[in-house]
Amino acid sequence: MRFFVPTDIYVEKNCVKNHAQNILSVGLRALIMTGRHSAAKNGSLNDVTEVLDDGNVPFLVFNEVEENPSTDTLRKATLAARDFKADFVIGIGGGSALDAAKAVALLLSNPDVDADDLHKVPDRQLEHVPVVAVPTTCGTGSEATPVAIITNHKIGLKKSIPHVIFPVLALVDGKYLASAKKQLIVNTAVDALSHMVESILNVKSNAFNRVFPEYGLKLWGECKDALLASGDVDVSLYEKLMLTSTIAGMSIAHTSTTLPHGMSYDLTLHAGVPHGPAVGYFLAAYTEVCAKFVPGDVERILSLLGLGNIGEFTTMLQSLIGTYAVTREMRDKFAAAMKVNRSKLDLVPGKISPEDVDFVYEKSLSLL
Ligand code: NAP
Ligand code: ZN
Repeated sequence: MRFFVPTDIYVEKNCVKNHAQNILSVGLRALIMTGRHSAAKNGSLNDVTEVLDDGNVPFLVFNEVEENPSTDTLRKATLAARDFKADFVIGIGGGSALDAAKAVALLLSNPDVDADDLHKVPDRQLEHVPVVAVPTTCGTGSEATPVAIITNHKIGLKKSIPHVIFPVLALVDGKYLASAKKQLIVNTAVDALSHMVESILNVKSNAFNRVFPEYGLKLWGECKDALLASGDVDVSLYEKLMLTSTIAGMSIAHTSTTLPHGMSYDLTLHAGVPHGPAVGYFLAAYTEVCAKFVPGDVERILSLLGLGNIGEFTTMLQSLIGTYAVTREMRDKFAAAMKVNRSKLDLVPGKISPEDVDFVYEKSLSLL
């Protein structure tokens, strides 16, 4: 058993300003990576640039990170960062901005590696410049994981890159959720939920790493009613939602994700479904399959969430994210690919059959 999260993590109000010195000590010239609008609107970009200005650390803002960041965007950001001579990267935003920051940090240290080669399995662990992460959604937990999920449109692939890139510093402040629409909070909270469920229903689950999803599921259960209610989520829950998301990231940092995440990537890549719902559609059926192998773990998950059975879990997820329909051709194609995806299948805590995989697709996606 091993436990390792080398990121210095602060979860508190105004933590960017409170820990200005921690940011300033990371490097001398910063590349800041954000999406097009949200970081400027929710105050997170301003908080970071004020700290850098006060500390006389020059910075370049690259604000072109799209949802599900592409290798082309990474290449463009890396060229700009190299010209600017950046020696560290600050990602501000949802998982897309944070993952893009991690990947660019790797590219900056490895001029011989092109962004399109990032998915190739390396023969050695590559170096990267330091990364600071400031999350503004309550879902991916990327600030506490070593993973970057990158899309290469040229080969039709959305997948984590096989490199370990833990941020050196994570500053997690719930106040940045104030600008988020309710459905974005719900979608990303469902992602965090999936991380914790997939971390427990996982062959790598052990006594050390289980502490995180078990505690996080309890916190998530305490936010459940607010997520399900029709109005906005109360400000007082923002910090709890962000903390839960970071804890969920710490969970998958040790186990990685299993089938629902593996299944989600096709739905995002080929149908444009946002990450949280794309994962969430598969979560209840995956849990049902796992109940054959580890019934006690499934019972524990449901009880931490305050749910009586898998039927209630399914209903809750459908209330949060609805349902999704695809063509039969798409569903069959996705299922065929998943049946040979050993990196995800081998993490299921039991001998999963091709029929089980079909069951998850059939139960999770209706037909157009
Ligand atoms: P996202 O793709 O980063 O952002 C979704 C949308 O939310 C964007 O339009 C963004 O706007 C907006 N947004 C972000 N923060 C906001 C805020 N506070 N207020 C209002 N709008 C805001 O969404 P995400 O779900 O956080 O990240 C998904 C990505 O992370 C996927 O690529 C997924 O595969 C990956 N992921 C990574 C890990 C990991 O461990 N590394 C784990 C799970 C998922 P702007 O574009 O204007 O910023
Ligand atoms: Zn996820």
